[in-house]
Amino acid sequence: MDLGLRTRHAIVLGASQGLGLGVARSLLGEGASVTLVARSMERLATARASLAEDEQARCDLVAADLGEPDAVEDILRAAQREGRVVDILVNNSGGPPTGLPSGVSIDEMRGQFDKMVQPIMTLTLALLPGMRARRWGRIITITSSGVIQPIPHLPISNALRSSLVAFMKTLAGEVAADGVTVNVMAPGRIGTARTQSIDSAQAKRTGRSEDEIARESASSIPAGRYGTIEEFGAVAAFLASVPASYVTGSVIRVDGGAIRSI
Ligand code: NAD
Repeated sequence: MDLGLRTRHAIVLGASQGLGLGVARSLLGEGASVTLVARSMERLATARASLAEDEQARCDLVAADLGEPDAVEDILRAAQREGRVVDILVNNSGGPPTGLPSGVSIDEMRGQFDKMVQPIMTLTLALLPGMRARRWGRIITITSSGVIQPIPHLPISNALRSSLVAFMKTLAGEVAADGVTVNVMAPGRIGTARTQSIDSAQAKRTGRSEDEIARESASSIPAGRYGTIEEFGAVAAFLASVPASYVTGSVIRVDGGAIRSI
């Protein structure tokens, strides 16, 4: 299937590693050009160096911390340089700390809102008018399985990402007739540094080994293993594609069957 991405430009947030890098690689593999955003230029450069030569030529790097006030402006300036239009936005961010809901600090919650929700909404709203005017756009927001089945010890993630789901669903309804699709991805457990740090936190909490935790977690997933960033990226590339034009307002699970509800 031709995904029709060869003339398209995408911004992918949190793209130096993990899910964001998996998505960026898939889009580049389909011929799109991509602006990769993350905090560290060094890590971004390492990520770019791992790509094929023709893919490297199609990607720009932007070092920006989504928690900083100028981040969105810096990203837009780089992605839209020389009049280039942005057709695809892949929203992503770092994950918040773990802990019990009863122990949540409201200041921490506010700080995480400014990194995980506010910049994503600002960037989405900034790119939307152009997408609507051109009658083509794809907005994809990476959240978590926790927006369907809340994850114990991730109260801030469950709460803030659910607000993104509600916003994106509302937006999808407004812009569907303009050729702009708005979807959310809900990863279950994809093998990345973030998954490893969550396993490690659980190991510390329970006094067990990280390996034991990871094995137990994998065995609770019907697929029997964690997913890969390539599997995740492939789903994102389809959602970004021309043939996915009638998929909007959806929460797409990439979880190996982990979420128990229908
Ligand atoms: P990761 O920690 O491996 O990668 C996060 C990426 O975001 C990195 O590129 C990092 O540089 C970037 N980043 C972090 N904070 C940033 C900031 N303030 N400004 C700009 N960039 C920033 O995480 P991941 O596993 O790739 O997951 C991506 C997101 O999806 C995280 O929020 C994570 O909590 C969530 N998630 C992941 C899984 C999974 O299975 N991996 C499951 C559910 C939810």
